[in-house]
Amino acid sequence: MPEPMDVHDLLALDRQHVWHPYGPMPGKDDPLVIESAAGVRLRTAEPVQGHTELVDGMSSWWSAIHGYNHPVLNEAARGQLDRMSHVMFGGLTHEPAVRLAQRLADISPGDLEHVFLCDSGSVSVEVAAKMCLQYWRSLGRPAKQRLLTWRGGYHGDTWQPMSVCDPDGGMHELWSGVLTRQVFADAPPGGFDAPVDEAYADHLREMIARHADELAAVIVEPVVQGAGGMRFHSPGYLRVLREACDAHDVLLVLDEIATGFGRTGELFAAGHAGVVPDVMCVGKALTGGYLTMAATLCTPRVADGISRGEVPVLAHGPTFMANPLAAAVAGASLDVLLAQDWRQEIKRIETGLRDGLAQARTIPGVRDVRVLGAIGVVQLDRPIDMTAATRAAVGEGVWLRPFRDLIYTMPPYITGDEDIARICAAVCAAAREG
Ligand SMILES: *Cc1c(COP(=O)(O)O)cnc(C)c1O
Repeated sequence: MPEPMDVHDLLALDRQHVWHPYGPMPGKDDPLVIESAAGVRLRTAEPVQGHTELVDGMSSWWSAIHGYNHPVLNEAARGQLDRMSHVMFGGLTHEPAVRLAQRLADISPGDLEHVFLCDSGSVSVEVAAKMCLQYWRSLGRPAKQRLLTWRGGYHGDTWQPMSVCDPDGGMHELWSGVLTRQVFADAPPGGFDAPVDEAYADHLREMIARHADELAAVIVEPVVQGAGGMRFHSPGYLRVLREACDAHDVLLVLDEIATGFGRTGELFAAGHAGVVPDVMCVGKALTGGYLTMAATLCTPRVADGISRGEVPVLAHGPTFMANPLAAAVAGASLDVLLAQDWRQEIKRIETGLRDGLAQARTIPGVRDVRVLGAIGVVQLDRPIDMTAATRAAVGEGVWLRPFRDLIYTMPPYITGDEDIARICAAVCAAAREG
């Protein structure tokens, strides 16, 4: 290991050379330098506002569900490291990938039993789109090549996913006119517990019917729209989509990249509706936040359709497809998740978030407070001052990353009750001062 860098030198080099997510170059605001992490705590390289440890309210963007430096995940990584970190997946296979695929097929809804392992969530959405378009091509219906989604969604930053992100006010507005023009339905009415709005359900049915001849698939985030606005909707709309897709020969893709592996209180959010999609994307928490890996699952119907085509193969094969190190850690992460009463843990966190965030309703400028599973959201009536909000949260010893008008948390599942209360206090402080 090289000598640790002086923090000021590190930040100067960071500004000069390193792009950060959605950031300018050179960088404007100094990021916090993290030296290590364990449990639910991030350790900073130097004290910030008197803290050297911050409780992580973000699970590193939904991924670190078991916290950091987890002994079982560490052991899985070390054990695999000593055998092999990587081999190509063309013509070769290995136990970590086979075990993981079998596991994913077992725990997924319905007959999603074929698994394409890829490197990131965005790529898994690319693969899902390719599967659906190719399915219809193989069946001699190449005109079915557009996607329908509802507004307010987020599906990743590469080209095809960008085309189904919220077209207005989102991060990808810049690219309208350049991206494939997809079909957009209105955003689903808010509220997990709200009854299905029949007028809106008819709107969905009508859009799918009208565009059926050109639609390969409908793609949505089930129950929770994440980076597009942290909005919850009734699971009933998933049943509406499933029925309309079946009635009009359109495939249904559910993007469970943020919601998968327990976050909303069901193992997959589709479970709230008892709906089985034709294609499902998972990512983020798949490796417990250790390594980058995602998966696209499909049913035998989709796989058979593709295999009957003139080009009977799925022409996709990332260099690091099914990376053994990531697959081994993903397997261990699923073991850890399923060995515990995860449903109970999510309920416990949900209760803690409901209690702790209730006080936010009285803060001036707070428009809405909503909690579902291990997700807590405070929405303001104005754009947030990110710097002030982040500073307020760090002042409480908590790491949060607000965006737009939203301060939100999705803590690791191992977060104890006291730390949940602390995260809630930090969300409130950020809402007051942001
Ligand atoms: C994060 C996310 C993606 C993109 O995943 P990356 O790994 O960042 O490429 C896609 N869909 C949803 C719902 C996400 O939350």
